[in-house]
Amino acid sequence: MTPAHHGSFFAELVCSNSLRAISMHNAVGLLKEEMRLLDSLIVRCALETRIPAGGALAVDREEFARLVTRILENHPLVDIYHEEITDLPEERPLIIASGPLTSPELASSLDRLTGLGKLYFFDAAAPILTYESINMEKAFFASRYDKGGEDYLNCPMNKEEYELFWSELIKGEPAERKEFEKEKFFEGCMPIEVLAKRGRDTLRFGPLKPVGISPPSSENKPYAVVQLRKDNREGTLYNMVGFQTRLKWPEQKRIFSLIPGLEKAEFVRYGVMHRNIFINSPLLLNPSLEMKDHRGIFFAGQITGVEGYVESAATGIIAGINACCRARGEETLIFPEETAMGALTHYITTADPQDFQPMNINFGLFPGLPFKTTKQKRKRFLAERSIEILSRFRKKFHKQLA
Ligand SMILES: Cc1cc2nc3c(=O)[nH]c(=O)nc-3n(C[C@H](O)[C@H](O)[C@H](O)COP(=O)(O)OP(=O)(O)OC[C@H]3O[C@@H](n4cnc5c(N)ncnc54)[C@H](O)[C@@H]3O)c2cc1C
Repeated sequence: MTPAHHGSFFAELVCSNSLRAISMHNAVGLLKEEMRLLDSLIVRCALETRIPAGGALAVDREEFARLVTRILENHPLVDIYHEEITDLPEERPLIIASGPLTSPELASSLDRLTGLGKLYFFDAAAPILTYESINMEKAFFASRYDKGGEDYLNCPMNKEEYELFWSELIKGEPAERKEFEKEKFFEGCMPIEVLAKRGRDTLRFGPLKPVGISPPSSENKPYAVVQLRKDNREGTLYNMVGFQTRLKWPEQKRIFSLIPGLEKAEFVRYGVMHRNIFINSPLLLNPSLEMKDHRGIFFAGQITGVEGYVESAATGIIAGINACCRARGEETLIFPEETAMGALTHYITTADPQDFQPMNINFGLFPGLPFKTTKQKRKRFLAERSIEILSRFRKKFHKQLA
């Protein structure tokens, strides 16, 4: 048992009974649809134990966990051992899916396997936004002192805007911490709201420092500047530099939307600071979720650096299929990037390894469109393209996916 789990069934939803949106025009809805097409046990059980919840797939938690457990216990090819693994088994293929609260001894074994410093013990993640939702009439590209190209987007603030932002930030409501997270994990990485409470100008001498950043046209020097850094190669996602935070998600939306240029920002991931064990997948894994340096060892679930129940289950399907390929002596499969399954694994295995933080599925991870259109039409197009490409992929690899 982890300190977060309470029941004895598999697939316990520890926090919420929602597996998030069902509509295919939402990236997590599309991911679930792809999983359904691949006969996901988790999605199948969720649909069977569904309870009404508007546009979300909510389940009766107890019934859902009981059903998943019953199916696994009765499966003729599954043997279940209820014991702690401390050393990695010798068998190959092997899938490691010990989750965000992997037990300490196994974590030490994984640290040795992955190489020192490539296993992380907590998230200290800043929010990520879509580029298309940033108001470029206010934000502008520039690097401090013109060093390092134009990888940074800047949101300049005047004195009035800064003071409003600061006064709301220091009043922001923090997320609750779980009992097992009360240790001091975060000394080296201060939440922005805590830093702000040190004084009215602390942020202006820290992450919101305006020096060396000149707006292209305005004569007025900014009083403070919020910098955003490219979060993926395609430049569809931007990370708020220095904004690791423990504020509640609606508070992040409310307060960070006060930043000029971010009034209508679409947050694809909110900032979090919590205990979460995950590996540096961009350095360690292929998009098949097999280790680059250890053939036959796969990772799945949140430990790969995906975030969330649905994403974790999706990577389980990919690792499972590929472990089967290896067991049969075949090459592994890589899901097309245009599918939600492929976009997610592509991101976690190609993101910047220097600043790798867990990620939810979102449309910003998909390869862009060759034409401009509205946001709604874009989502519909990406969803339709994904399902079409997945059906071709399923036909082509029907033996492996059977
Ligand atoms: C407190 C908390 C709340 C969360 N709430 C949400 C939420 O509301 N929505 C959401 O989408 N996501 C949530 N998450 C994230 C969620 O945990 C993961 O997304 C998902 O459960 C990860 O699935 P997993 O299979 O990778 O890991 P887990 O579900 O954690 O499964 C890993 C299993 O491995 C076992 N294990 C660990 N170490 C060993 C070992 N050494 N030997 C044998 N077994 C071991 C654990 O006991 C556990 O049963 C939450 C996470 C935490 C910690």
